[in-house]
Amino acid sequence: MNVILMGLPGAGKGTQAERIVEQFHIPHISTGDMFRQAIRESTPLGLKAKSFMDQGLLVPDEVVVGIVHERLGNADCSNGFLLDGFPRTVAQAEALDQTMQELGRSLDHVISIDVAKEKLIARLSGRRICKQCGATYHTEFNPPATEGVCDKCGGALYQRDDDNEDTVATRLDVNVKQQEPLLAYYGQQGLLREVNGDQEIEQVFHDIANYLQQSR
Ligand SMILES: [Zn+2]
Repeated sequence: MNVILMGLPGAGKGTQAERIVEQFHIPHISTGDMFRQAIRESTPLGLKAKSFMDQGLLVPDEVVVGIVHERLGNADCSNGFLLDGFPRTVAQAEALDQTMQELGRSLDHVISIDVAKEKLIARLSGRRICKQCGATYHTEFNPPATEGVCDKCGGALYQRDDDNEDTVATRLDVNVKQQEPLLAYYGQQGLLREVNGDQEIEQVFHDIANYLQQSR
């Protein structure tokens, strides 16, 4: 079962990825992990990637795609994989198609966890941090007993600049723009499975599992 997981920041991708891995026994392959592994094992591509990163440069597509190719060819991916954070562009998606072909495989599903932008802004901007001890809260999901006051130490809670609504909205817009052509690309291929992410975690997983079971 070869699956790509997509979703905007705050859509709950990480939580769902954990559940998918647990139930379907396929490795969760995130771009960051993949890079760290290639660098740790000093593969030729890992070293190449590192040389770009050390200079503060973006790792070029051919290197990224090469690392994905290496990783998907590993034994633990023989029954499938859950790819997360790649591809990010249509060019990368095309390169992934090529890689899959070379590996004699094909994609089964591209799961997109959809949550309306306004909801994501609320989720992402609700974080509050204690000035004194650093404990984190969420105005909606993990509120302190008294608004604005830390449960643990009584310190004042504040919102990081990164978490304010305007910053969050701008960040989301960038992600939406980046994601749109990819969704269209996989839509055309008939691989896109859109899941409503504005539901209980259990229900979201249930909807995802429904799609994944169809390919077993
Ligand atoms: Zn505190």
